Amino acid sequence: MNATLSDIIEANAPIPTWFRVGGKADLLARPRSVEELRDLLRMFAGERISVLGDGANLLVDDEGVDGLVLSLEHLNRVEYLGFDGGAALPDRATTIFVRAEAGARLPKLITQTNRDGLEGLEHLGGIPASIGGAVFMNAGGAFGDIAQSIESVTALTRLGDELTIPHDEINFDYRHSGLSWLIITSVEFHLESIPEAKRAAARQRLKDVMTYKKSSQPLREDSAGCVFKNPVLSGTRVSAGKLIDQSGCKRLRVGGAEVSDIHANFIVTHPGCTARDILNLLEEVRERVERSHSIRLEPEIAIWQRGGKA
Ligand SMILES: Cc1cc2nc3c(=O)[nH]c(=O)nc-3n(C[C@H](O)[C@H](O)[C@H](O)COP(=O)(O)OP(=O)(O)OC[C@H]3O[C@@H](n4cnc5c(N)ncnc54)[C@H](O)[C@@H]3O)c2cc1C
Repeated sequence: MNATLSDIIEANAPIPTWFRVGGKADLLARPRSVEELRDLLRMFAGERISVLGDGANLLVDDEGVDGLVLSLEHLNRVEYLGFDGGAALPDRATTIFVRAEAGARLPKLITQTNRDGLEGLEHLGGIPASIGGAVFMNAGGAFGDIAQSIESVTALTRLGDELTIPHDEINFDYRHSGLSWLIITSVEFHLESIPEAKRAAARQRLKDVMTYKKSSQPLREDSAGCVFKNPVLSGTRVSAGKLIDQSGCKRLRVGGAEVSDIHANFIVTHPGCTARDILNLLEEVRERVERSHSIRLEPEIAIWQRGGKA
């Protein structure tokens, strides 16, 4: 193995996730640059490669995961690229382009841009994610999703070739980007630089979004956010949480995994919980919802298991 690359590859490495359960990666690499990432992709061509973001929507099975796991945590630069038209206008909002690498943390980017008077990400307040993971999942909620602020996405193919895709050519949909064939390396956002007089309102909006999240989700417990996607019923997207609640699953428990009583689409973990507990609970909830509503819920969380797909 190439000497420099062997420095950044760890064998039998823990995978940090927000569930705080699950097994290890046979191999985990933390590239320090896009060039190193490209070298890794070429070295592991044809093998299973999984990309780890912040682990906030991820369940790793107790037996861990084979192949190579890539963590982009060192690719975390954020750059203000400049204003549309060249300069900010003092009395009205001006578009500014901001590029964030995939390993940058979304909450930090939201706080930083909000503090700097840039509007356009506050609707995502309180969502734990790396930029790459947030874009891959098209993270969002009651106030909108991340796609609406994206100008373009830059990524490597699994063969290491770079491409930049404009927003309009990405198949963004509810919790979907269609980018599973790519490793996202950076994202360009279009935000609005707002005049001083309007900045207090933007700060308040972020606070309001955070307050809403704290009141509606079990943020004090370990979870991975919503475990199922909201299904479409007669052309309308309905709340999976409501269906789970109506199926009598709130507080349903398997081992150390429990359906949250604050938000029924969240599974929270207790000491001693295993990934198997969560998988069994997911299946039990699915069956109960199917029995009572004739709808088969689809997982929103990514599930990594041995022998699974790349
Ligand atoms: C308390 C809590 C609250 C949450 N609230 C919300 C919410 O309101 N709205 C919402 O949408 N989500 C929510 N989530 C879920 C989670 O925050 C989002 O899904 C987020 O986008 C996951 O990002 P991540 O970086 O943690 O990705 P991970 O969980 O690490 O990975 C998720 C998927 O993205 C892929 N991926 C990650 N990085 C890349 C990359 N660079 N290139 C290609 N693929 C990549 C992974 O391979 C995996 O398939 C919540 C989670 C928690 C724990």
